[in-house]
Amino acid sequence: MQTIDRARLARQLELEQQRFIDTHPKSRELFQRAQKSLLAGVPMSWMVKWAGSFPVFVTSGKGAHFTDVDGQDYLDLCLGDTGAMTGHAPDAVLETITERLRQGVTFMLPTVDAVWVGEELARRFGLPCWQVCLTATDANRFALRIARALTRRPKVLVFNYCYHGTVDETFATLHDGVVGPRSGNLGPQVNPAETTKVIEFNDIPALEAALAPGDVAAVLAEPAMTNIGIVHPEPGYHDALRAITRRTGTLLIIDETHTICTGPGGYTQAFGLQPDLFVIGKPIGSGIPTAVYGMSEEVADRARTQTPLEDIDTNGIGGTLAGNALALAAMRVTLEKVLTPENFERMIPLAERFEQGVEEVIEDFDLPWIVKRLGCRAEYWFRPTPPRNGGEAAAAVDFELDQYMHLYAMNRGILMTPFHNMALVSPYTSESDIDRHTAVFREAVRSLAG
Ligand code: PMP
Repeated sequence: MQTIDRARLARQLELEQQRFIDTHPKSRELFQRAQKSLLAGVPMSWMVKWAGSFPVFVTSGKGAHFTDVDGQDYLDLCLGDTGAMTGHAPDAVLETITERLRQGVTFMLPTVDAVWVGEELARRFGLPCWQVCLTATDANRFALRIARALTRRPKVLVFNYCYHGTVDETFATLHDGVVGPRSGNLGPQVNPAETTKVIEFNDIPALEAALAPGDVAAVLAEPAMTNIGIVHPEPGYHDALRAITRRTGTLLIIDETHTICTGPGGYTQAFGLQPDLFVIGKPIGSGIPTAVYGMSEEVADRARTQTPLEDIDTNGIGGTLAGNALALAAMRVTLEKVLTPENFERMIPLAERFEQGVEEVIEDFDLPWIVKRLGCRAEYWFRPTPPRNGGEAAAAVDFELDQYMHLYAMNRGILMTPFHNMALVSPYTSESDIDRHTAVFREAVRSLAG
């Protein structure tokens, strides 16, 4: 099956939409009711971007599964887009978090857990000095502020089709080689071309050229792109990135919010990266909102003296709830008991099993598709070769086919990560879960073959 019959795809998609509507009456009713009180009927606008014509409303989740208000069980391969990579309500953390709730959540003062967490982060990720905030978005914003303050340079550099949260400077893409606002970006303060340089990932000459004028404070990068699908760095790319940033006095911020799927120390530890600043959020507190950013000794030394004590609360870095006692307790127990080497040893082979299962189907149906994997995260692509960069990846998006594959899976109790065909494995995911996905994927492909 070298090409997809688009007429057949459209018909099948219609059938799946109807099936979804018929089997989710309670979610539909809630969604209709919510139109009156919630913008677009959801508490956060992107919750409408699921393949069904409305989102399913969740009742509860445990481990790798959750149930909805219509009583359906789902194998969750989305896992809150990595926020629940630890599994839902992981037993290992529940007692600690519940106890912390009983003892008070937020004080604007540190707790003992903070010291443990700082020491563990330093050991794990190799950077000596840490700060805590509420989201990975905030961590990236604060890391960029520090970078601009220390270098006294105005610009940042990001990769085409990156995603680092709702960080204003990063909502920029290339349009025929020219930097402009990313499609859909709502109310940008300024044209991002004023704040941001954008180049393609894996393009060393473009990096050289962009950093040569010496006006870029920092490169903000995922070590492998994950938000426009998985795009791996080519051999030698990270060495070049580090060498060029160092040579041009540009700081390197590595955002490991998703690439923590590589292993317990993220991509940085697995591949010996040496960032100046390091960001991670989402799963680090088992889904309790929290994130951290770390810095090298040199950055820390210079950052310490930037703001006089009198102005420390108005330096643009903060959040009243940042570093709260609950977040620290959640991070401590997550690092101690969930994001452990032993759990990664279980999770990664399961993602390999996912990869093999999908690959077999692709071969059996002779599809021009591929599957890529990074640690316990895997993804299939509707193109025959791996994309080298975000531009190529974005060009490969087939929205209708995406919708169909997602909806077909959802109608059979499997939730994939929305926006692309990504699956993530938690410590609670089982071999039979993975095999069920493979079987459903095979059926979905067969339904398109006729
Ligand atoms: N960094 C990366 C690499 C991400 O993928 C995301 C979210 N998808 C963020 C940062 C932002 O995380 P949050 O929305 O929790 O702030």
